[in-house]
Amino acid sequence: MLQKLKSYLNDFSHLLYPHNCEGCGTDVLNDDAILCTKCLFDLPETNFTNTKNNPVEKIFYGRLNIIAATAAYYFTKDSLLQHLMIQLKYRNNKDVGFFLGKQLGYQLQESERLNDIDVLVPLPLNPKKEKKRGYNQAMIICEGIASVWQKPVLKNALIRTQFTETQTQQDRIHRWQNMQHVFAVADKNSLQDKHVLLVDDVITTGATLEACGTTILNILNTQLSIATLAWTI
Ligand SMILES: [Zn+2]
Repeated sequence: MLQKLKSYLNDFSHLLYPHNCEGCGTDVLNDDAILCTKCLFDLPETNFTNTKNNPVEKIFYGRLNIIAATAAYYFTKDSLLQHLMIQLKYRNNKDVGFFLGKQLGYQLQESERLNDIDVLVPLPLNPKKEKKRGYNQAMIICEGIASVWQKPVLKNALIRTQFTETQTQQDRIHRWQNMQHVFAVADKNSLQDKHVLLVDDVITTGATLEACGTTILNILNTQLSIATLAWTI
């Protein structure tokens, strides 16, 4: 009876709020999904989570002392994943971030290399940007991960200062030096002695994650790993 009622309510809400796959447009998909099974299956998984010395880890060689790093999917131009990232960052579509975060969560859950993670930390967004967007996409991804992989999400352990916008004119070294002061620790106790998983949406050069990771590793006895939704080659 309850099941019947539930399915009736599902159908009903479907009528009120049409819900289609972000990939192919079909309406045959679960209520909490943003992709149908086929489009989800077609997303290009990296399988980095269980691979030592994978390309994302290599980005940090000699720069940051990490335990492991991974990205769930390959990011390519004009792909479905690019469309989803735009939805998440510029179209106010938090459901996309939560759904993809969940998929990353399933991958992390199965990884033996990352099973001793203590806390999830979203890469803090520039406060001005966060205010404009209304949310930090890395936080939404963390919530998606934590919905399937029960780890605490520390939202306010780190803070990010404002002044990154004017850096375009500066040379690389100055930019790097400035980056080192962009992040600060707001709650040392919640991170101390922990294996921290730092989470972001996309990894390209890794410069921002490096700066943030360095700040985390300055806290007594922390270990660091990194996970993102996508990796751009
Ligand atoms: Zn689809």
